[in-house]
Amino acid sequence: MGQRVVITGGASGIGLTFARRFHARGDRVALCDADASAVAAARAEMPDAIAVQADVTDPAQMDAFLGKVEQDWGGADVVCANAGTGGPAGRIEDLDFDAWRACLDVNLNGAFLTCRWAARVMRGQGAGLILLTSSTSGLYGVPHRSPYVAAKWGLIGLMKTLAMELGPAGVRVNAIAPGAVEGARMDRVVEMEAAASGLSPDDVRQIYVKGSSLRTWVSADDLADMALFLASPAAARVSGQVLAVDGHTESMVP
Ligand code: NAD
Repeated sequence: MGQRVVITGGASGIGLTFARRFHARGDRVALCDADASAVAAARAEMPDAIAVQADVTDPAQMDAFLGKVEQDWGGADVVCANAGTGGPAGRIEDLDFDAWRACLDVNLNGAFLTCRWAARVMRGQGAGLILLTSSTSGLYGVPHRSPYVAAKWGLIGLMKTLAMELGPAGVRVNAIAPGAVEGARMDRVVEMEAAASGLSPDDVRQIYVKGSSLRTWVSADDLADMALFLASPAAARVSGQVLAVDGHTESMVP
């Protein structure tokens, strides 16, 4: 296969699972992440990958990372704008504007720089897939998570628009919407939402479980299965879509 795959936020969680799965089947992988020690670990695990410490909100750092990818590979076939952060939890009347801005900055503005570069190289190639990591939080409202929810809805608007702009050039653009993913990040989110809502962490977990038709959380590998499908010829006519991998969730309110 030998696709050239770029992943932001690729040194842990879902992004690292994407990197491992593409790498394991022989694709070339380039990842960036703000966490230097996680980047070093990813580089040690996949020595032939490009692994760079870069913050998706910093144009100079992203220029350096993406410039290296372009220099080494001449382009990219799959670009995953995946980096994200949970942002603050709380009632909107209690939220700090700087915390709101920081959440929008990583989750939404960070995707802009990645997508702009991907659009430039892929339009020239006449082919490619841009895959944004949104969230089921980008499909409905979630009490006490307004900045994160707004950012993840924003990513879907960005995806829909880029699919229309780039489709005529042969470039597909989709978003993946993970439900609650087992792992350290959701453990942190559950603690934060419990503190904001006054519920116990177990009650918060149950809200997520009961909100899904399949009564389940998902794994990062479930998300990677979807990413591999979208990057495959089987998805050659799939663009402009949000693919939820969440056990079918309609609402976060029980
Ligand atoms: P994670 O915290 O395990 O990994 C996110 C990675 O992004 C980390 O390595 C982190 O260092 C990196 N990162 C954060 N800010 C960055 C920045 N400014 N620049 C570069 N890298 C940065 O979280 P995850 O669960 O793997 O999340 C990946 C994506 O999936 C995020 O966009 C997240 O919003 C989305 N998501 C996750 C879940 C879930 O349940 N875990 C659910 C829905 C959506």
